[in-house]
Amino acid sequence: MRTPLIAGNFKMFKTAAETADYVLALRGLIAGRHGVEVMIAPPFTSLQSAAQAAAGSAIAVGAQNIHWEREGAFTGEVSAGMVREAGARFVIVGHSERRTLFGETDDSVNKKVNAAIAAGMTPVVCVGETLEQRDRNETLAVLDRQIKEGLDGATGEQLAAMVLAYEPVWAIGTGRNATPAQAGEAHFHIRQRLKQWFGLESSDRCRILYGGSVKPDNISKLIAHPDVDGALVGGASLDPKAFFAIIQGARTT
Ligand code: PEP
Repeated sequence: MRTPLIAGNFKMFKTAAETADYVLALRGLIAGRHGVEVMIAPPFTSLQSAAQAAAGSAIAVGAQNIHWEREGAFTGEVSAGMVREAGARFVIVGHSERRTLFGETDDSVNKKVNAAIAAGMTPVVCVGETLEQRDRNETLAVLDRQIKEGLDGATGEQLAAMVLAYEPVWAIGTGRNATPAQAGEAHFHIRQRLKQWFGLESSDRCRILYGGSVKPDNISKLIAHPDVDGALVGGASLDPKAFFAIIQGARTT
């Protein structure tokens, strides 16, 4: 049985002080409630304050990106070990904004996944098609390529501990979410491929999140599909009350 995970991607929003206030508000809301794992990924500069404010609570902290090298002359970059020391246990890898705006490729995704695992972190690997690819009926082929190349070399055990996020690019920040049927079809396909490539047991343990305009009023229908194990939430994660409502909507027990 996979525990649902609701993850918030703050993108480039919230200072360190604002993040700490947010975490204190969220931890008050979720206190004593179980059944859903919660993670927030604030900007690098907020990781430490988020981790401090979340200490002893059920809220985990993640980074939004890492470089794959441990250290080096890479101006402006931050390594897995650095974000881990700041308190991050998860890291989002291959978000579509990084792929489209910052030149992330399946190859760099693969290196970052390996770096995250080597640092003892859980990668949240994002995959998803553009609208043009969907219109050309390429969705499943795009997912196959992104997963095969992004996870190249990973073992079944590593896959089992990882999180994937199906995030159709056309649904991110647009207010237009995939229908539960569209999300279900993609998630089912991903699970089948994972089974084929990594084996039944590992594919059964790996969590696959849906991301793309998730809101309090659509989470329950999306998560009702057996292969949807939670959500990666952008805009609606910025308000602790809305994020908490999504967490509530994801509760399956
Ligand atoms: C995201 O950034 O991963 C995302 C899904 O954003 P939004 O929920 O705003 O569509």
